[in-house]
Amino acid sequence: VSESRPLRVAVVGSGPSGVYAAGHLVEHASGTWLDGRMQRCAPGRVEVDIIERLPTPWGLLRAGVAPDHFAKKKVADLFDSIATRPGIRFLGNVEVGRDVSTAELSEWYDAVVYAVGATHGRLLDVPGNDLPGYWTSRDFVAWYNGHPDFTTRSVDLTADRAVIVGNGNVALDVARILTLPAETLAATDISPHAEEVLRHSAIREVVVLGRRSPADASFTNAELAELEFLPGVDVLVDPGSIGDDVFAGTNANFANARRLATLERLFQRSVQGHPRRIVLRFLASPISLEGAERVQSIQIGHNHVDVSQGGRRVTATDQTSTLDAGLVISAIGYRSTPVPGLPFDETSAVIPTSNSRIMTAEGVLPGAYATGWVKRGPTGIIGNNKLCARNAALAVFADAEAGLLPSENTRSFDAVADTLRQRQPTLVSWSDWRTLDSTERSRGYARGKPRLKMLNVEEMLDVVTRESVP
Ligand code: NAP
Repeated sequence: VSESRPLRVAVVGSGPSGVYAAGHLVEHASGTWLDGRMQRCAPGRVEVDIIERLPTPWGLLRAGVAPDHFAKKKVADLFDSIATRPGIRFLGNVEVGRDVSTAELSEWYDAVVYAVGATHGRLLDVPGNDLPGYWTSRDFVAWYNGHPDFTTRSVDLTADRAVIVGNGNVALDVARILTLPAETLAATDISPHAEEVLRHSAIREVVVLGRRSPADASFTNAELAELEFLPGVDVLVDPGSIGDDVFAGTNANFANARRLATLERLFQRSVQGHPRRIVLRFLASPISLEGAERVQSIQIGHNHVDVSQGGRRVTATDQTSTLDAGLVISAIGYRSTPVPGLPFDETSAVIPTSNSRIMTAEGVLPGAYATGWVKRGPTGIIGNNKLCARNAALAVFADAEAGLLPSENTRSFDAVADTLRQRQPTLVSWSDWRTLDSTERSRGYARGKPRLKMLNVEEMLDVVTRESVP
């Protein structure tokens, strides 16, 4: 890279890991703290183009974080301040694989950082998982959060019980959204379609199934403790399902001990007689989904905790039971999908990397990096992406300094945008996103909501085209 031009980097994906990566890339261009001193980081000037498939940025912050989690959504302000730093530009409504190939990106940029996240839900591997009425949490969450790919899907909430399989934070998010009173949801930015369907929901009970014991649950104490204060919802722990060790997790570290204490409080609570309830049921594995035309019940295998050999294992018993349910949602994690043209490890569903550098069978793919869930797998909260993204930025700088970036055909922003515009006439810039953002906010304020989300890409592009300054 010559001294006279900036290092040109594309970040693919504008979710948390992409935004943090862009921030680190331009920040490190001027300097960074190391060993308590601000040190200059080569190569001096960096331009980052964030390429995003949708016209809207922020990935799972917009389509994943639960609508009632207002404080978490405030991270958007931080993202906004990062993404509008000098040197960072947004190219929204551009899909890698459709509008531009990975090979072209490698040619047009000195470096490309893939931050494409995990776009699919893990499917429950049991008979009946093809029946209507079964959803992955990824799809269900995207539906209630107004992701344009999911808003037209129809959700049937006419049965009085829903079952959620999984014991992570997403399972608790979904349980809350299914039980919160309509007026509580009305004050959020939940998709207006979902708000309407949920307003008429017949669901009275949501059972959350964990295949292991209370001590093994993945949800965090903060999310669990929130259940103690849900308006209009009884939260119960199924007494028959907690095993002999009950709340005494043998691996109880501080975080686990706090979570178990919260569970114990919930366990001891008496039923208040609220209109809806959430039942936390442990040591229960899904065996099959049953139903003629759609899900009508779920068959469950009962497990127990085996502490006989010094260790602590959860094993299946021969006991089973059946729970009637018209909706089954598996919240058992996300899964990344391959990016056309890049290597992919099917077993762990990630892009294979070494120190953030994308690896093929032959070795490092020059100038290609990954960060976030597509690199680490789908675990961790938004903030966990900071360090991951920083490592990717440092790998880019190390390779730039070592002269390892393929830079013969690097193009300027204008040249890239011109080519893309020939393939995709409506490119969405930051200022276009601001237009969408303020339109959504003002429509929302009128209804007492933080924003009223636009639900389809055509409408978004319409607004952008109408409002954009020529
Ligand atoms: P997760 O935390 O990995 O939880 C997945 C759950 O699914 C685990 O309880 C797991 O049980 C269970 N599971 C996996 N396969 C199963 C199967 N075949 N049958 C039954 N149960 C199965 O995943 P997540 O809830 O999707 O969350 C993803 C990440 O996002 C997590 O790091 C989470 O903390 C984060 N997140 C945070 C928030 C927040 O901070 N508010 C909100 C949402 C998500 P085992 O443990 O037995 O495998």
